[in-house]
Amino acid sequence: MAAQPRVAVASVIQETNTFAARPSTLDDFTAQGLWVGAEAAERSAGTNTEIAGALAEIAAGGAGAVPVVRAWAMSGGVLDSHAFAYLRGLLFDGLVAAGPLDALVLCLHGALTAEGEPAADAALVEAAWAVLRPGTPLVVTHDLHANVTARLVGQVDALVGFRTYPHVDQGDTGRRGARIALRALGEGPRPGTVLAKRPMLVPAESQAVADPPMALLRRLADDATGGPILDVSLFPVQPWLDVPELGFGVTVTHSGDASAAQAVADAVAAAAWERRGEFAVHPVPVPAAVASVRAGTGRGPVLLVQSADSPTAGAAADSATVIAALLERAGRIRSYATVVDAPAVAACHAAGAGGTVETMVGATVDPRWSAPVRVTGTVTRLGADPVTLTGSAMTGQAVGMGRWSTLDTGTGLTVLLTERPAPTFDPAAYRHAGLDPAGADAVLVRSATLYRAGYGGGYSEAILLDLPGASTPRLDYLDFQHAPRPLYPIDGGVS
Ligand SMILES: [Zn+2]
Repeated sequence: MAAQPRVAVASVIQETNTFAARPSTLDDFTAQGLWVGAEAAERSAGTNTEIAGALAEIAAGGAGAVPVVRAWAMSGGVLDSHAFAYLRGLLFDGLVAAGPLDALVLCLHGALTAEGEPAADAALVEAAWAVLRPGTPLVVTHDLHANVTARLVGQVDALVGFRTYPHVDQGDTGRRGARIALRALGEGPRPGTVLAKRPMLVPAESQAVADPPMALLRRLADDATGGPILDVSLFPVQPWLDVPELGFGVTVTHSGDASAAQAVADAVAAAAWERRGEFAVHPVPVPAAVASVRAGTGRGPVLLVQSADSPTAGAAADSATVIAALLERAGRIRSYATVVDAPAVAACHAAGAGGTVETMVGATVDPRWSAPVRVTGTVTRLGADPVTLTGSAMTGQAVGMGRWSTLDTGTGLTVLLTERPAPTFDPAAYRHAGLDPAGADAVLVRSATLYRAGYGGGYSEAILLDLPGASTPRLDYLDFQHAPRPLYPIDGGVS
């Protein structure tokens, strides 16, 4: 080891939804900035990200922090093979360019799936090993929604994950990983990580760490941490991932006693399995949800939560099912809904403000889950500017919706049509288009949990809708082909 050890940090992150219609491409990463070497450190500095946290912690620990690469994309479909080869090459070349290294912190999502490579995160670790000297400490960080594979755990000194959902501890997770990497450079036994898994899926809607049963599992994990147990991480997995080895994971990082660590991992995984029934969610059919809104008008906005079509979970946000229901059954309630539909946006822009448009909307990107619906209305507003988020999630971030238009159907429903998904987890998405959710009886939200942070207390009730989709809470609606079976809760009689 050099007098001042050189510890590298690399970050290649995307969450894959294998049920999404559109494959992810390199454009999805370049749109967010692909930063190599010093630029990766400079542009990440001060952000709440794993790479920034890890680099800062390494420097604070007296080691030389070596930035390698930062690649990030929004959740989406399976990564195409060209993009994956490119990203793997960036990591490999970056590590070669970095020169001799004493340790590596590799920040990965853990649910990245590429064409022909279902465990793409493990393949990235292998790419790193093609450069690193044998025996170099290697620590990986993961999102809480990772599907942890034995293949990856078998190649690393430590694996640590987010402790929060909604996620707010990206930077802290990078710092935790970096501390273990620095420890591995010191005297004493090398750290190690063990894994326990259970064949179960958890709907995203019931994974919030503040709520039971996740809160209880997190407490068990915290109680077990200390002494030789350096870290206990929970990985309930994002459920729209049809890959081998799919399941709820618990990793335990230890300072040399693998059997003690395995006992902890097994105990926490067993507790998750025992409580598997408590993760159930109870989505409501759309007609019943709309009837409930009609019965209680005037109490403040009801959020119609179509998490089945959530763009932050990789879905297309193009289902018009709720719009159809609001048109058919809403009567005199005031409602706002949004849908991705580029041709309809073009028709509105062609008609201009005040113009009348009759158009089909919906199912233009991913027609598997819904049918288009005919909408007639008056164009009330047109735009192309991004919306700046105002809620407590991603506050201040600007999100582009492409061109957009509002269409007043004259029935009480106004539709916000967008070319790219609107960030409906934040009321700013509608306000930006002149529609204030506070004045509506019902508002369509395409989000599993983030809306709780975005809306704060600004709604009277949130009704989870029973709908199919690439990010549906009804996991039994999805056709799993590659995941190990039986799998709870989609298969009966799993015990
Ligand atoms: Zn996540």
